[in-house]
Amino acid sequence: MNLGVLKDRIFGTAPTVALIVCAVMATDYLVNIVLLNTPNAYTPVSTLLIALVVAAPLSYWLTSQRQRLERLRDDLSASLDAKQEAIEEADRRRGEAEEAERLYRLLSDNLTDHVALWSPKGERVYSSPSIQRITGYTLDEFMALPPQAMVSEADFARVQKLIRGLTPGGPPATADYECTRKDGTLIWLESAYSLLGDGSGILLVTSRDITERKQLELDIAKALELAETASAAKSDFLANMTHELRTPLTAIIGFAEVLRRSRGLSQTAARQVGHILDASNTLLSVVNDVLDFSRLEAGGLELDPAPFDPAAMASSCAALVEERAVAKGLVIKVKASKGLRPMNLDGPRLSQVLLNFLSNAVKFTAHGSITVALSQKVEGDAALLRGAVTDTGIGIAPEHLDNIFDRFSQADAAVSRRFGGTGLGLAISRRIVERMEGQIGVDSVEGRGSTFWFEVRGPLAELAAPEEEAAPLLDGEGGVRLLLVEDNAVNRELIKTMLEPFGVDVETANDGVAGVEAMRQGHFDLVLMDVQMPVMDGLTATREIRAMEGARGAATPIVAMTANVLPEQIANCLAAGMDDHLGKPINPTKLLETVARWSGRTHTA
Ligand code: ADP
Repeated sequence: MNLGVLKDRIFGTAPTVALIVCAVMATDYLVNIVLLNTPNAYTPVSTLLIALVVAAPLSYWLTSQRQRLERLRDDLSASLDAKQEAIEEADRRRGEAEEAERLYRLLSDNLTDHVALWSPKGERVYSSPSIQRITGYTLDEFMALPPQAMVSEADFARVQKLIRGLTPGGPPATADYECTRKDGTLIWLESAYSLLGDGSGILLVTSRDITERKQLELDIAKALELAETASAAKSDFLANMTHELRTPLTAIIGFAEVLRRSRGLSQTAARQVGHILDASNTLLSVVNDVLDFSRLEAGGLELDPAPFDPAAMASSCAALVEERAVAKGLVIKVKASKGLRPMNLDGPRLSQVLLNFLSNAVKFTAHGSITVALSQKVEGDAALLRGAVTDTGIGIAPEHLDNIFDRFSQADAAVSRRFGGTGLGLAISRRIVERMEGQIGVDSVEGRGSTFWFEVRGPLAELAAPEEEAAPLLDGEGGVRLLLVEDNAVNRELIKTMLEPFGVDVETANDGVAGVEAMRQGHFDLVLMDVQMPVMDGLTATREIRAMEGARGAATPIVAMTANVLPEQIANCLAAGMDDHLGKPINPTKLLETVARWSGRTHTA
């Protein structure tokens, strides 16, 4: 027993001892003095001592018993409290478990997705009731079905393979497959499979109905196919249209060119022929723009990078618009920074952009000057090329600047009425520059002028050494025998008119069959072959001629002369065995150069 407990007991005993002693003393007094009146028998000191001797141990024992009982009571009540707390905790946990189960049931009963658990032996352990909504089978019916009942053999095998590749606790694998519902209809399901990572080997599968999404995907694919067919039809239509437009333009431009060069025209007639040429060239550039734009829209523009000289590009583009500029009293300045280095870019396409800027500058400027500026920022073995055309023309109002590079966009109706145009040139330019991953833009002040610019990056390059001999020109001495295979009578006459003054002896054939026959009969230095012809087209005729020549061991140069000018059409000509391509409408200078170049040589097959 420790000192504290002893002290408690002693202090706890004292009141009892005092009470007993007081009671004994009082009793002694009452009995001896008050009741019996025997003062001699009244011995308070002895009574006190006896009382103390008896009361002390008695009280001590009583107190210790009381304290023990109190302790027992305290222990009992503490254990009762603990029990109560345990009961309350158990109740709380049961309540939580019931709530969790209720929520889980709510969830699994109302899930649109289906949740299933499979034992490692491939038996269904659990399936959420949503299966009925998805497949039409009740939960009991579904649990009794074999696993492969609703899917095709191939899909079942695919999914099994997927499951075999799973690792416990690893990432889930997903699969889409068709599933046959109880009523026989087909739906698409998407399932995610994962192996639980708790060592139980249980497979968790969550599946959802994706029929609507699949239908949407199918609809989109169908719509895309339709759009592609429509776009292909549009491209075919445009290719045909441009072919049909180019054919008469060949005659118009060709004969106008012949007339312009003839000496016997009066001044008025010469001016009128000039108008015919200008108008038909404008029409030709519209045809070219429409064809170009449709190809760019269809993403069919293939760039053909080759070493080119930016400074030469600037001067040749400026030269092309110079005549028109001078006629309007405009000055054209070319400012190419010193030491511009050749680059590996699609030069002709970049020239098209610069030429479009320049043509617009001439068109929209009445007085002043037009400046073409080219600069280059060399970055290692590449460079950033900037081309800009600045004019002092009508400028563009700020509200039109944002969409000036959009297709069919013209600054405003008044401008388009006054100046004409298709609104395609800048849209084509933008697409070409974007295709080169460059930038295009304009700065303009209305009434003061505009600067159209582009920036493109490309590798620096070395220019190939210039060809040793320039294309020979026809000397007019004669001696060139040329076979022209062309179904259009006007074109036959045009080519003859253009070539005969230069001593070219032109024999004609009206279609491919006649062309092959002429080649069988005679010897020619060169063949100009149209492509689209009745009876036999130019490609077939070329193949037949090449087969015939193969047997003889000689080959005559064949040059396509056609309104089919798309790159794939040119490639077809070369693949059929032709050596070169001349696009219609025929440019007289190019025609003469081509005839001179090929008539002097023998084709090497
Ligand atoms: P088009 O010239 O055939 O109309 P573009 O696409 O080349 O087509 O030009 C679109 C429009 O941009 C023009 O109609 C004109 O309103 C405006 N524009 C282009 N270049 C200039 C310029 N240098 N000055 C003023 N306006 C211009």
